[in-house]
Amino acid sequence: MPGSIWTQKETEKLIQERNKSNGDDVAFSRRYRCNRTVHAIRAKVKYLRDGGLINKRVIETPTPNILFFDIETLPIICYTWGIWEQNVLLENIIKDWCVLSWSANWEGDERIFGDILAPKEAMARNDERLLGGMWKLLDRADIVVSQNGKRFDHKKLNARFIHYKNTPPAPYRIIDTLAVAKSVAGFTSNKLDWLAQETGVETRKSETGMELWRKCDAGDSESLAKMLEYNLGDVLELKQVYTELRPWIVNHPNINMYMDVPSNACPVCGGGLVDIGRYPTQNRKARSVRCCDCGWVGRVYAVKLEA
Ligand SMILES: [Zn+2]
Repeated sequence: MPGSIWTQKETEKLIQERNKSNGDDVAFSRRYRCNRTVHAIRAKVKYLRDGGLINKRVIETPTPNILFFDIETLPIICYTWGIWEQNVLLENIIKDWCVLSWSANWEGDERIFGDILAPKEAMARNDERLLGGMWKLLDRADIVVSQNGKRFDHKKLNARFIHYKNTPPAPYRIIDTLAVAKSVAGFTSNKLDWLAQETGVETRKSETGMELWRKCDAGDSESLAKMLEYNLGDVLELKQVYTELRPWIVNHPNINMYMDVPSNACPVCGGGLVDIGRYPTQNRKARSVRCCDCGWVGRVYAVKLEA
């Protein structure tokens, strides 16, 4: 997919085909058929050649494990004496919140998967089994993308991990699409649905309301299935919004640091870079570059670039 990270399989295929073909890189890039642009293919071949990876049989280019995920929770149920600006005492909590469902997807993989509480678990507010699955995913991830994840999802999950005496998952970097949208743009709203609409992402989500949460809490299996479907739709939307926002993300974890190849590819997606002009700092000369895959622009110092 244009703008997405070159997978190991994709890179290996490109190298194999380039090694088999006669002629120069430009002619090869025009001939080569994949869903990326000629410009992107040419820049990637150039980048691989500079790294000495063309004309080699096997390469190791592990890409980072990027996880997209989203959770839903069941609300707190409590006794209250009114509905306006209430201060609920802890002793008035009847049922505390818990995780209701999660959905996830890996970069470079089409499959979206998830899990939701079984009817009995929902009624008992027992999310231990659910948390186990989520912990394993986070433990495998290098980078985790979520909407409002910094303030909500990660903190909620951590609270439950601690509750069940889990150790922390292996370290991962967090990309929060809400924080990104807020910091670089002035959208009317930074909610996922609005960002999807503004970035031209098609949504396939079903409508939900508080009634659905109430039925899930009561253990209604049809409602639980509907909730999971809603949750799965959310993660697909998140992935597409992230891909649209990616070239705008400041301080995106540098993809090159997760790869065993020379590090002058696009730090955001691993695509090839081309020189687009000067971009000096106060004290140093530098060039600005653009990624041929995702469109990221940035500054580089003294690296070999396409003429
Ligand atoms: Zn890129």
